[in-house]
Amino acid sequence: MKKTDRELGMLRQITRRDFVQGASLAALGLMLPTGCSPARNERNVPTTGTSYPPTRTGLRGSHPGSFETAHALAREGRRFDNPVDLDEEYDLVVVGAGISGLTAAYEYRKKFGAESRILILDNHDDFGGHAKRNEFHQGDEMRLSWGGTMNLEYLLFTDRVLEFLAEFGIDVERLSKKLDFHYGLDGPAIWFDADTYGRDVLVPGFSMYSQNRDVLDTIDQFPISESARAAFKDFYSSEANVLQGMSEQEIKHVLLETSYTDFLSQYAGLPDEVVELFVKSTDGYWGVQPHSLSTTEAMNAWLPGSHLLGDVADRAAGEEESELVAMFPDGNATIARLLVHALIPDIAPGTNANNVATARFDYDQLDRPEGSIKLRLESTVVRAENEGGGVAVTYVKDGLTTRIRGKHSVLACYHAILPHICPELPEKQKEAARYQVKRPMLITNVLLRSGTPFEKLGITGAYCPGRMHAKAWLIKGVNTAGYEGGSDTSGPVPVMFWGLIAPPRRDVPLQDQLRQSRQAMLELTFEDYEREVRTVLDGMLGPAGFNVADDILAITVNRWPHGYSYGYRDLWDPDWEPGGAPHEIARQPVGNIAIANSDAAAAAYTQAAIEEAIRAIDELN
Ligand SMILES: Cc1cc2nc3c(=O)[nH]c(=O)nc-3n(C[C@H](O)[C@H](O)[C@H](O)COP(=O)(O)OP(=O)(O)OC[C@H]3O[C@@H](n4cnc5c(N)ncnc54)[C@H](O)[C@@H]3O)c2cc1C
Repeated sequence: MKKTDRELGMLRQITRRDFVQGASLAALGLMLPTGCSPARNERNVPTTGTSYPPTRTGLRGSHPGSFETAHALAREGRRFDNPVDLDEEYDLVVVGAGISGLTAAYEYRKKFGAESRILILDNHDDFGGHAKRNEFHQGDEMRLSWGGTMNLEYLLFTDRVLEFLAEFGIDVERLSKKLDFHYGLDGPAIWFDADTYGRDVLVPGFSMYSQNRDVLDTIDQFPISESARAAFKDFYSSEANVLQGMSEQEIKHVLLETSYTDFLSQYAGLPDEVVELFVKSTDGYWGVQPHSLSTTEAMNAWLPGSHLLGDVADRAAGEEESELVAMFPDGNATIARLLVHALIPDIAPGTNANNVATARFDYDQLDRPEGSIKLRLESTVVRAENEGGGVAVTYVKDGLTTRIRGKHSVLACYHAILPHICPELPEKQKEAARYQVKRPMLITNVLLRSGTPFEKLGITGAYCPGRMHAKAWLIKGVNTAGYEGGSDTSGPVPVMFWGLIAPPRRDVPLQDQLRQSRQAMLELTFEDYEREVRTVLDGMLGPAGFNVADDILAITVNRWPHGYSYGYRDLWDPDWEPGGAPHEIARQPVGNIAIANSDAAAAAYTQAAIEEAIRAIDELN
């Protein structure tokens, strides 16, 4: 029977005593300032509002307070006239303190001199953009997880990016050798939930990436119809070549113009019941569901079916993603932190690539009156314009509209906001920027009292085809950059839920699906997310002794309505002429304003954010 909110522990306080268990509040910097906690998050999220943003819990990512000004501007057409002119003058004003904006500031000093005065503005209460650190404290222990950008897919890095990272002491290859985290693939499972499938069933050993007959026995346990189970087993056992006798044109149609879900039903003969199992399989990885991905794209993301393509299977191999990655325990927030440290060393004296994961950053240093480089948080830029041989940038902070002047500006925010904040862009450029609708993403970290239930069940994670988040994993095996908390799962351990909010409609163009998904994500409350993860953990781990009311210590929802950069998809985008793709048109500089951010490469990668910042600085004179 479905549990009530009370039984799920929804009405419980996660008290401060539970949360910090004896650790000194002052040592952890958990002094609560007044007036910063959104009322909705007060219950169960005791650290929301601490002075140290990485320890804040509740709704993070696009957190309350970060997006309202931009929405007033972009959605309601609100004007922010008559700004107060601040008596501050800069060489460079950067919009966006993500990896791209921080890289732009760093590169600007290299090009224009170490004494350059730089202001970096960001709408969030923490720097890093998608590179978001989630930090939990429990007793004397600190546990880290990432709230956004996680992998360094270093095999795809150019020498320029590798050299850039080396300037901070980051050796990605060495880092990757220390990694023992496998996204749940070292103990995979599929979890069928009672709401969707009638009963809770955990099937260890099955992964959606399974390619062969090894999984046939596990399919016998699936709570789906007998005929669907038989069809699924036939799929893995089949030696048919579904492309047999097809012309080149027909093969192209199957590989590039047929969605993966259509391939499964029309060519692989799978019934809807089985096809539906795949529908969330690409949520976190692609940010697009398989009904909107081509057969080639899905198979390049390791989904099964290439065994049915005969000797043309290789054609399904396009830009296959690299499996080799390097990672920091807070994801690429480490890169953001090393960049901020390089720009403002007083933020954490003595920090380097070998100890940065445990370094405590003093946020009071970010925006000091005497600093030549200032990072100003909770500041939303509403206008950037060329003026009087330089630039004028207007932003809203604490309800006050303020204007500052500089020689140059780099807009390292994201493309879809450009038409709203930079009205002087040519119409063609604005149109191109609007085309790049970001893919909404969701990472919810839940701190468990212990990882023992996972061990008892013999799993490290599970795919959840019927739930909001597609997957959940234990965060373990990332002991890099001075962090050693990633091995022991007998005590507090984060579990990361990964995915997106499914678009309400699949039969609309991809960009509309992304917009719908974003809206749906913003309409959910913290309680909706909390109820969801509690339900999943209870159903999945309950049989292994997990007590849902007692064993959840903290919940941090990192919602990213503007998540992955829009990437061009086989089913939805034309082959653009060289120089004519939306990202290439949208990133053109205008006067003293240059444009960075991973959107400028149409690629949701850290290396793209870095490369585009270097290019943007190259463009400034
Ligand atoms: C959940 C998630 C997981 C990811 N995982 C990976 C991964 O594993 N590996 C990888 O390489 N990449 C990953 N990415 C892609 C990620 O986007 C890039 O790696 C990179 O972090 C992007 O950096 P950026 O600086 O270009 O953009 P962002 O990180 O988006 O930074 C831009 C900043 O500008 C701010 N901004 C926007 N408008 C304004 C305004 N008007 N005023 C002030 N500030 C503004 C934004 O809010 C944001 O803080 C992931 C992204 C997401 C969302």
